[in-house]
Amino acid sequence: MTKKDNVHLETLLASGGRHPEDNYGIVNPPVYHASTVTSPTLAEWRARDFTKHITYGRMGTPTQKSLEEAVALVEGGDHAIAVSSGLASITTAISAFVESGDHILVSDSAYFPTRNFCNNVMAKYGVETTYYDPLIGGGISELLQDNTKVVLTEAPGSQTFEVQDIPAISAAAHARGAVVINDNTWGTPLYFRSFEKGVDVSVHAATKYIVGHSDAMLGIIVTTEEHYEKILMNFRYWGQHAAPDDCYLGLRGLRTMGVRLRQHQENALTMANWLKTRPEVTRVLFPALPDDPGHELWKRDFEGACGLFGLTLDKHHDDTALGAMLDGMELFAMGASWGGYESLILPGKPIRTATTWESTGTLLRLHVGLEHPDDLIADLEAGLDRLAAAAG
Ligand SMILES: *Cc1c(COP(=O)(O)O)cnc(C)c1O
Repeated sequence: MTKKDNVHLETLLASGGRHPEDNYGIVNPPVYHASTVTSPTLAEWRARDFTKHITYGRMGTPTQKSLEEAVALVEGGDHAIAVSSGLASITTAISAFVESGDHILVSDSAYFPTRNFCNNVMAKYGVETTYYDPLIGGGISELLQDNTKVVLTEAPGSQTFEVQDIPAISAAAHARGAVVINDNTWGTPLYFRSFEKGVDVSVHAATKYIVGHSDAMLGIIVTTEEHYEKILMNFRYWGQHAAPDDCYLGLRGLRTMGVRLRQHQENALTMANWLKTRPEVTRVLFPALPDDPGHELWKRDFEGACGLFGLTLDKHHDDTALGAMLDGMELFAMGASWGGYESLILPGKPIRTATTWESTGTLLRLHVGLEHPDDLIADLEAGLDRLAAAAG
């Protein structure tokens, strides 16, 4: 299916990347398991081009191509490349654009493993990273150097939920020839329209809302015609790959992502507003709330919010008190990742080097799932009561 201006995003979610006419009329594409792909003639073997044909399992199966086509259509990019994890989408994208002696700018609130990659891998290959204040906006001009090849943005910030002015950062980066890579996991291809906001490369932990069911690891890089080949070649050099079953799960998740996100947002707002009434909660870090410092930018640049937000408490609790709260939760489970249908809770600890991050007390991150909000409120209320009792 080709992109049509008059087709809505919900329609693209349901129809993108599907070609039943090529497959007995069956609605979903099959899962092709493949390593070897054979050629019937020497002439065809010689003519194989991995950018156009199915040539080898590592270079992508038809299942992977369906997913890539669908996600690119939904986000409004020209191409997408599926990889093994969200982190792999970040590392594959960044490393496509730099060489020894180059410089990159990374938001101080970026996902911690992104920082790990820059500090431990990019540094080893002679690429220097400067971390910048996520709220810098157009002021990033002052940090851009002649050798700055990449500006990495992520909004809202991991754990701390600052909203970045991505259009202003993109304009400044482009004026100096740098490429903007945006980690759009929170925004998703639906709620942050990367390519209308000046982003060149949008990377996603598809593990989160695209897969949506906590059962597969997957990353997706969406980009424009201009940058596609460079990233595709880098994907190939590093031996990146996305497993066919996981691509299938990503496609299946994508079909319902719109309705799931609407409910995650509604449930999250209900929870956030309830939390604001609690005396021990000093801040709810959720840009969809009108009194959040990032609300105006969020309203300008985002089409919606997902189910992930933070909150701070009035005290820094030790693990004995925090354990009394968290160990007894019945619906909010403790675990990494988010974006599945179920609710999660974790204590946070933002790592900063360019800025400082202060809070009145313990930082908690909630992922609000699709359970009924009344049941989630009851679970949290009981947890906060256990915390108060344990803290004395
Ligand atoms: C989870 C996450 C990633 C990494 O995704 P994985 O699939 O776990 O590798 C990247 N960026 C953000 C913002 C994330 O939350």
